[in-house]
Amino acid sequence: MKNIQQFDVAIIGGASAGLAAALILGRSIRKTVVFDTGEPRNKPAAHAHNVFTRDGVSPLEILEIGREQLKVYPSVAIAQERVITAAKEAGGFRLETASGGIFIVRKVILATGVKDILPEIAGIQALWGSKVIHCPYCHGWEARNTSVGLIGNDDMAYHLIAMIYNLNKDLTIFTNGKCTFSAEQQAKLQQLGIGLIETPVTAVEDEADGIRIVLADGMVHHKHATYVRAARIEYHTELAVQLGCELDEAGSIKVDEFQQTTVPGIFAAGDVAHPMYHQVMAAATGGLRAGGMCNGQMSAEDFEK
Ligand SMILES: Cc1cc2nc3c(=O)[nH]c(=O)nc-3n(C[C@H](O)[C@H](O)[C@H](O)COP(=O)(O)OP(=O)(O)OC[C@H]3O[C@@H](n4cnc5c(N)ncnc54)[C@H](O)[C@@H]3O)c2cc1C
Repeated sequence: MKNIQQFDVAIIGGASAGLAAALILGRSIRKTVVFDTGEPRNKPAAHAHNVFTRDGVSPLEILEIGREQLKVYPSVAIAQERVITAAKEAGGFRLETASGGIFIVRKVILATGVKDILPEIAGIQALWGSKVIHCPYCHGWEARNTSVGLIGNDDMAYHLIAMIYNLNKDLTIFTNGKCTFSAEQQAKLQQLGIGLIETPVTAVEDEADGIRIVLADGMVHHKHATYVRAARIEYHTELAVQLGCELDEAGSIKVDEFQQTTVPGIFAAGDVAHPMYHQVMAAATGGLRAGGMCNGQMSAEDFEK
């Protein structure tokens, strides 16, 4: 017979959102288990920025501090394993892990994050998070006042241009195929002296002081770094779907202002629960809110019994 364990709350995903949820639950003496497979989205980056009191610290070190500080709270356990199935059952939820563990819990917090699916360009994945970057808030200061590229060709890419231009006047847009910007948008780029290149990009290569952006016609552009628009974002919603939680149009888990999903007792926080506000502090704030709401609901349920 399988070993069945009972907890108040299961948090699936133990990075910024999940660990912040665990902290408030630990401080509320809630028996909490955090499952984590150790693949936070910002793992490829050497430094995390815009993290209050931890600006410039490595993402993995920030999470290590988070886990270390949880040790004060004995009701919180961290399990380094994947939850593979989740289902509702009378009075709560039943989870199964990859190693066959069964967990019965009263509340669930989904903090499973997202994955960036990058355009299929040779070399781009290896430089992701260092010289191939996605966010002016995360990496923009370090690349400011240098010659940078942006590989992208949609409305969101155009939206990014203004923010990048705030930091870099020497900017070239690589649309990697026929440009889809409107005539007005293209005229604006021309007016500001922002280069626009439609030739497909075949590779991004590392070099000592930057990168080489190699085009299909053999031309090479030297840049300090390049921004890139992910081809798409994959939201880790398999368990949310199994549990019957609704998703929004972008594919993220629908939540209300208290991080409650459309299924009572299930909360979601962090990148997986928002279509675009993807930052460490935002994830941690959502986790804190989800943890607080779980405890609030359980306290009220127990009080009224
Ligand atoms: C290259 C890069 C650099 C970035 N730099 C910054 C920055 O400088 N500042 C900033 O504020 N933001 C930055 N971000 C954004 C930041 O990474 C995210 O906003 C943040 O990681 C979201 O935290 P999260 O807890 O929601 O998800 P994640 O950090 O993605 O963590 C999700 C966790 O859940 C685990 N998991 C998933 N499914 C399961 C499962 N079924 N069972 C068990 N565990 C599971 C994963 O292994 C992972 O550890 C960056 C993003 C990228 C891509």
